[in-house]
Amino acid sequence: MFQKGGLGVPEKKDICSLTYEELVREMEAAGEKKFRAGQICQWLHVKLADSFGEMTNLSVALREKLSRDYEIARVDLVERQISKADPTEKFLFELADGNMVESVLMKYDYGNSVCISSQAGCRMGCRFCASTIGGLKRNLKTSEMLRQVYQIQKITGERVSNIVVMGTGEPLDNYDNFVRFVRMISAPEGLHISQRNITASTCGIVPGIYRLADEGLQITLALSLHAGTQEKRKSLMPVANTYELKDVLAACDAYFEKTGRRITFEYSLVKGVNDTDEDVEDLTRIAGHRNCHINLIPVNPVRERSYQRPSRQNALKFQNKLEKNGINVTIRRERGSDIDGACGQLRRRYADAGKE
Ligand code: SAH
Repeated sequence: MFQKGGLGVPEKKDICSLTYEELVREMEAAGEKKFRAGQICQWLHVKLADSFGEMTNLSVALREKLSRDYEIARVDLVERQISKADPTEKFLFELADGNMVESVLMKYDYGNSVCISSQAGCRMGCRFCASTIGGLKRNLKTSEMLRQVYQIQKITGERVSNIVVMGTGEPLDNYDNFVRFVRMISAPEGLHISQRNITASTCGIVPGIYRLADEGLQITLALSLHAGTQEKRKSLMPVANTYELKDVLAACDAYFEKTGRRITFEYSLVKGVNDTDEDVEDLTRIAGHRNCHINLIPVNPVRERSYQRPSRQNALKFQNKLEKNGINVTIRRERGSDIDGACGQLRRRYADAGKE
């Protein structure tokens, strides 16, 4: 079971990525009572412990054994930014190997929503996105996704009720760890967040969408559409060279049929690129006959990119034209514009500082 670490030292197991059932098996194999798994699970996923030392209802011997064989994945706060503009906070976390990830807390009337990262960096290359600039560093472990939420809950004292997987990274490019994250964060032994309150956003990895449709989950799928034709989409999103728009849409239809969950299409509005009347027509052809929702995101200008957002008035006009065509469409309320709002910008600032 043990993977060998450097110098022949056995690597410790990542305990926070283990489900309750797996932990039961681990405890049984170690000659411990089954109920210990329940206690450990509660410390890790309900009381949100950062160390085995805190687990005071376990014997000292068991705590020592746990710290010898297992580790609690490190997700350490480096910076917390609190927006003055709206109830939004941004967090930069450092992982055990020095990689940085960012997460956002958004407080709404209906509850608190946390946006997590699924990878350190990203290899999808979307032209307007800051997260992809340094490429993919590595996939996040399930524990590292969970503990972004846990740390935010601990730091702020706020209960989290909604999750969006829309931070850095492509969740379907880290498929197994992402699906395990969904199962664990919604499990009764953990934070027990309803799957209906979880949204995952994908750039459109077709086999991943079909696979996800068969997992028996109840999460909302958001597709980053960003263009109404294959040609235009290709110019904004390199992933469209691998998965064509018509195939992505067919996969979304299958997701809806299997899960009954209405698809959200995200559309980052870029001035002069995808905000014309022709784009309204192209989008209407896609969304007009589907049970879906379009979320318009005026593009967040990224320092390294030249894209600009349309004026507020033009974004509203774009929305109105779609509405007239019978489409369910909203403009995403801007959050945290004063705190490195755009995806990956806080993390980028640190990457840049490292180079200087
Ligand atoms: N990899 C996933 C999720 C991460 S990004 C995906 O592609 O969907 C979450 C959303 O923010 C995506 O729709 C993405 O295209 C969008 N996005 C990224 N950078 C942006 C920017 N600078 N302005 C507006 N939206 C952006």
